[in-house]
Amino acid sequence: MRFPPLASAVDSIEPENAYVVLARAQVLERAGRDIIHLEIGEPDFQTDTRIARAGIEAIETGKTRYTPTPGIKPLCQAIASDISIRCQREVLPSEVVVGPGAKPILFLASLAVIEPGDEVIYPDPGFPTYQSMVGIAKGKGVPIRLMERDGFAFDLDQLRDRINERTKLIVLNSPSNPTGGVLSRSDLEQIAELARRFNCWIISDEIYSRMCFDASYAPTIAALDGMAERTVIVDGFSKTHAMTGWRLGFGVMPSRLAEKVSLLAVHAFGCTAQFTQFAGLEAITGSQDHVQQAMSEYRLRRDTLVNGLNSIDGIDCRSPAGTFYAFPNIRSFGRTSESLANQLLEEAGVAVLPGTAFGCNGEGYLRICFANSVENIQRAVERIKNTLI
Ligand code: PLP
Repeated sequence: MRFPPLASAVDSIEPENAYVVLARAQVLERAGRDIIHLEIGEPDFQTDTRIARAGIEAIETGKTRYTPTPGIKPLCQAIASDISIRCQREVLPSEVVVGPGAKPILFLASLAVIEPGDEVIYPDPGFPTYQSMVGIAKGKGVPIRLMERDGFAFDLDQLRDRINERTKLIVLNSPSNPTGGVLSRSDLEQIAELARRFNCWIISDEIYSRMCFDASYAPTIAALDGMAERTVIVDGFSKTHAMTGWRLGFGVMPSRLAEKVSLLAVHAFGCTAQFTQFAGLEAITGSQDHVQQAMSEYRLRRDTLVNGLNSIDGIDCRSPAGTFYAFPNIRSFGRTSESLANQLLEEAGVAVLPGTAFGCNGEGYLRICFANSVENIQRAVERIKNTLI
């Protein structure tokens, strides 16, 4: 039997390890094991009732139709004024493209700027979608190390070494999945200077922007001089507003790029569910109490996890400045992060991710998501301790 060949662009696509570990954890659960889930990066809170009601009311009042591809007008306007604060300039609704999650915006924006062979810089360890989207666009991935000793900042020396005339795009993610690190303004200024000098685009994945423990949002490179015209901010509602399953994200980018990304979106997904957009409108324009409440709960969980991990001999865990991920250093065990993560799942019933799920430089670390109750985090730490000593 002869099968028609697949496109070479899909050869390099890898699964997202979080889903692989989740699937294995569910197999163990079905076999009767008690598993503590610290693998998947998803808020455990319910979507705020007020937001959910806005979505339900939208369905009940017939907002179940196609919408303009870049999004309904009031949502684009609300996003533009919200991002104006972060960018310290007036962002126009025509710079906004709404999509079913942040991921499609990451993908379409990359397709709109990467030519085959273009070099694309992205963080390692970093969110695995970056590598996939570069591969699909037939770009050449150039991973840049994040340095634990600098709070997981970009290794600027390596960046200076690797950036060149062929570099088309730099992908940033601050606060970072998986490290929880937040890029400082001074690092952003140095990256911006290089981006201007080599005339590169920036995709700044700011999905955790409001999930900062020491500020109301992380600084954005888009606010720096000469950066608005070369930066795509990617953000969404999944994490900040606990709306992962609603599928709602957006990009803010120069209008000339927004037009092209919208054209790609017309053909890729047409538009985003209308009622979901109305729920998002409520999330962004209504009270933000649920965001503050979630952040104070995450702070408690972070401190419980980090203090617990640091009480285990051989584990060294920095306190993340943002996100709901801790990225403990487990090098002293002399084991691969994959074998340690497997052991924790199979023996201790604690599902975590190996650092290598985020690139080679993740070796020696685990990613532990603290979007779980303090009680479960304490139980998980106890189990990890008993397994590793
Ligand atoms: N960017 C980063 C860094 C993420 O961690 C995630 C989700 O895990 C996304 C983007 C995707 O978000 P969405 O659910 O809006 O597609």
